[in-house]
Amino acid sequence: MFRYVLKNYMNNNNNRVLIIRHFSSVNANANFNDKTIELHITKNNTTTKHSFPFVWLRDNCKCDACLHKASSSRIINWEQFDLNVKPKSVEYHNERKILKIKWNDKDEHISEFSYEWLEARNFSKSNREEYLKKFYCLPKKLWGKNEYSSAMEYFDFTKILESDLELYKWLKSFSINGIATITGVSSTENEVRKIADRVGFIRKTHYGEEFMVKAKDNTSNVAYLSSNLQMHTDLPYYEYVPGVNLLHCLVQSKSDGAQNLLVDGFYIAEKLRKEYPKEFKLLTTVLIDWSDIGQEDEKSFHSIYRAPMICTDYDGRLTRINHSIPQRDSFFAVPIEEVQEWYKALSLFIKLIYDEAIELKTKEGTILCFDNRRAVHGRKQYIDTDDNCRHIIGAYLDWDEIYSKLRVLQKKYDENFKYVI
Ligand SMILES: [Zn+2]
Repeated sequence: MFRYVLKNYMNNNNNRVLIIRHFSSVNANANFNDKTIELHITKNNTTTKHSFPFVWLRDNCKCDACLHKASSSRIINWEQFDLNVKPKSVEYHNERKILKIKWNDKDEHISEFSYEWLEARNFSKSNREEYLKKFYCLPKKLWGKNEYSSAMEYFDFTKILESDLELYKWLKSFSINGIATITGVSSTENEVRKIADRVGFIRKTHYGEEFMVKAKDNTSNVAYLSSNLQMHTDLPYYEYVPGVNLLHCLVQSKSDGAQNLLVDGFYIAEKLRKEYPKEFKLLTTVLIDWSDIGQEDEKSFHSIYRAPMICTDYDGRLTRINHSIPQRDSFFAVPIEEVQEWYKALSLFIKLIYDEAIELKTKEGTILCFDNRRAVHGRKQYIDTDDNCRHIIGAYLDWDEIYSKLRVLQKKYDENFKYVI
C-alpha cells in the first residue's frame, strides 16, 4: 500500500542527490454538523478527524470568482457574504483527493478543496503551532556569554551573493541567533549594499542609506566620536525601528581599543522576567520618550517615539529592546512617584548587559550583522593615527524583508515544512 515518490533535493554541499520518500495511502470521508465539516482521514491505519468551520471554508473558496489565483488574493464579495452559510451537500472524492461542497446560497455555489490544502491548514493546536514555529517565524535561540561562540556563525560573502542556498542558511541562522558574521568582504564601499540588495533593500533613515562610522569633529551623532560608545540599540526614536544593523569593517583600529560589545538583550530581558519581576514590570510598562534632535545634509529633524525599554506583545513575548543613554529624552512624562523606581530598574538592566556582554574586535573584510531589536551593542574607545583611521560602513535592513525572503527560500529548501498553496 505504499506509493513511492522520487524527489530532487539539494544537500548542503550543493550536490543534487535523489531522495526516495514514501507515503502510505490516504483515505478520507466527510460529513457535517451544525457549524463544521468533519474530515475523517485514515493514514497508516490511524484515523484523524479535522473540523473546518463553514464560514472559513466559504471565505476561502478557491474558485475563480472567489480567489484571484495569480496573486493568491481573496476577491470574494464580503458585502454580500452570508455569515450563516451552510453546506447543502458534502462529498469527498478519494481518487481526486478533493472535498466538494455545494452551499445553500442562492446560486448553490460550489467550492473544492484539495486534501493537502485542508490538512496543511487544519485547526488542531499542534498544526497551528507548527505553522507559527516552522514557517511564520523560526523560534529565537537566546544566548548569554557562555553560548555566544555557538550562536555566532560565519558565512562567505561571495557564496551569499551567488547561491540562494547560502543566502537561506545565513538568514535562517541570523533570524534564530540575532547575530552572524559575513567574511571575505572586499574593502570597497558598496559591499553592504550588495548584501542588502540580495535580501531586499537598505532601510533609509534620517542619516541616509549607508552610513560611515569614522571619527569626525562637530558631529550630530555620538557614534561618530572615537570615545567610548556606551551600550545601546540604534534609533529607538523610530516607531519602525531599523531591524538589522550591518557593519562592514574596511579598516580596523590598530590601537588597543575599538572592541565591539554585544549582548543578547532578549536573554537579559528573560533573566529580568524570571529573577527581577518588579524591575521587569517597570521596564516593560513605563513609557520612555526616545528622541533625536539634529541636522543631516542641511535638513533638521526632531524625532520622538514613546515606548518602554522592553517591549512585549499581547502574549508577553519580547518584541524589542530600546536602550540609548544619549537618545533618552529629558522629558519624562510619567507620574513623579515612578521616576526613582524606574531609574533603579534601568541601573539593574545596565549592570546585567555589561555582565553578559561579549567583546569582539571585528576584522577587516567582515560584515557584523546583528538584530537591532534584540542585540544591545557598544564600542570601546580607540585612537586614530595618521596612517590608521578606523573605517566602518553601516546600513540597516528590515525584518519584514528578511522574513519575506526567508519564507521564499524556505519553500525551496526546507524539507521539514511543506507549504501547500
Ligand atoms: Zn467560490
